Amino acid sequence: MDNQGDRQMFEVDIECGECGTKITELPFEPSGDRPVYCTACLKERRNNRGGGRGERKMFDVDIECADCGTHISQLPFQPRGDGPIYCFECNKKRRG
Ligand SMILES: [Zn+2]
Ligand SMILES: [Zn+2]
Repeated sequence: MDNQGDRQMFEVDIECGECGTKITELPFEPSGDRPVYCTACLKERRNNRGGGRGERKMFDVDIECADCGTHISQLPFQPRGDGPIYCFECNKKRRG
């Protein structure tokens, strides 16, 4: 029998793309290419849909470049935590 109501939670370590609240658990696996919102902001967004297209969001992070060790405080994407993150310079170098 299924344990209904006991949904699997994914452990994450990210911040809400809207208010910056620390999120440690999600009922789904974050895809990494879309911002994740806390429960409060999700509700808010559902209440007033639409707008905000084309706006490039930066994510506040607190990690180090896997290559040169430079501190990275902002990323244009949500780090997934399962791969190395490189600073802007190293990213450029790696891409050639
Ligand atoms: Zn939020
Ligand atoms: Zn670097």
